[in-house]
Amino acid sequence: MAGEAIQNNYDEVQNEWGQICSQLRQEVGEKAFDSWLKPLSISSFSSGVMNICVPTRFMRNWVITNYSDRIHKIWEKKNPSIKSINFIVQAADEEIIHGIHSTTCRSLLKKISNSPAPQNIYMSGVSNLPVDSSAMVSDSNQSLSVPLNPQYTFENFVVGKTNEFAYAAARKVAESDDVPFNPLFLYSGVGLGKTHLMHAIAWHIKQRNPEKNIVYLSAEKFMYKFVRALRYKDTAAFKEQFRSVDVLMVDDVQFMGGKDTTQEEFFYTFNSLIEEGRQIIISADKSPSDLEGIENRLRSRLGCGLVADIHPTDFDLRIGILQSKAKQLNCELPQKVAEFLAQKITTNIRELEGALRRIVAHAQLLPGKEITIENTQDVLKDMLRSYDRRTTIDEIQKKVAEYFNISVKEMQSSRRARTVARPRQIAMYLAKLLTLRSLPEIGRKFDRDHTTVMHAVRKIEELIKKDQNVAESVDQLRRALEA
Ligand code: ADP
Ligand code: MG
Repeated sequence: MAGEAIQNNYDEVQNEWGQICSQLRQEVGEKAFDSWLKPLSISSFSSGVMNICVPTRFMRNWVITNYSDRIHKIWEKKNPSIKSINFIVQAADEEIIHGIHSTTCRSLLKKISNSPAPQNIYMSGVSNLPVDSSAMVSDSNQSLSVPLNPQYTFENFVVGKTNEFAYAAARKVAESDDVPFNPLFLYSGVGLGKTHLMHAIAWHIKQRNPEKNIVYLSAEKFMYKFVRALRYKDTAAFKEQFRSVDVLMVDDVQFMGGKDTTQEEFFYTFNSLIEEGRQIIISADKSPSDLEGIENRLRSRLGCGLVADIHPTDFDLRIGILQSKAKQLNCELPQKVAEFLAQKITTNIRELEGALRRIVAHAQLLPGKEITIENTQDVLKDMLRSYDRRTTIDEIQKKVAEYFNISVKEMQSSRRARTVARPRQIAMYLAKLLTLRSLPEIGRKFDRDHTTVMHAVRKIEELIKKDQNVAESVDQLRRALEA
């Protein structure tokens, strides 16, 4: 198989690289080796071109000036198929789909994050060599190490009334040779298929056009990479990575709210790609106009292509998805059981899938035992119980506010006085404990972001251990809510 050949090839050059490193260590000495050569790692190798990651532009220049000829010479001797070596300034935590081998890069990332940022030293004789941006795209067809979920394809996506529009839009983008609408903006609540659709677009385009350079990353990753680039004074290389992109997908942009410099950078990247006619696909948990903490100009830019939302699932879609997932799991799911699950678990598809996996795992462990409603109820006892008495965040806010004699409005306000802040934290804690809502979802109900909720949960957990009053209040409220 082609995949195997590439993997063997990769292992081979990886092995050679190890030997070259030992030789270089002896030649240049421990200190120089640790400073300049140890942080290098192989990114990819194909058609005689070796791409090596270097963490910063400064290091790249240094390595090229001082070591590249030597590296090339030694390597050529070992492996005549190596025609040229590129040094690419590239963060080690790439989610960029082409050519980057994530395992080698991960160890590199560790090294970088533990070492101080290099100083901007002026060196005479070291010219500011242009970064060879062609190297960035050269291996786009060697996309075997893509961090895309192989299950997230169009074929595995079940279409129903609630998602047919988003699906059609995604297919259109994936199948068009030009850019039908830019950006495509997908939004929905959690677990309803945004990420699945984005990966499906990427798979489809890859299949039709293996040379296309597709980048899929989360908004958080984008911010992280940008902040790192700032730290290493390497924003030019950061920008360059995006310059060669044909399709850019940024998932969950709601998390970009508030971080001004990254938003600016994103805006810049976004505009220049759009101007060059590259396809952009964005997802978020809200429509562009409802996104919080996003600058107006970016918000309006995000909404200027096609905006498609995925609605909460309906019963038929849930049944369809259960049957399709059961098939993938090689399991015969009785219609009655599917109906039972589709009735009980209505929040999102991720949970529905989780329940199905549990049932299937159980059935496979006890062969001969049929899947029936009775044993489904048994296997999912705790999960279903929490559905039956599912407390809502609204109820929690109401009860907690009543208990502490404040209003729900105050609880959701920005007031930080202890008399309001503590009940707010308790309500957040109970929401995490008694509902299956995610941190961002809980945050939204309190007009806060997910980090605030996380902090509140930790704080209350701590207080329960050492403050008798808090422990009692939480306990009473919990009983009342669960009754
Ligand atoms: P989101 O990104 O909107 O939070 P995901 O794309 O991660 O949601 O979907 C959550 C899970 O539900 C994934 O395992 C995905 O495969 C599955 N899923 C979502 N929508 C569908 C669908 N229409 N058909 C099949 N599986 C789906
Ligand atoms: Mg997602």
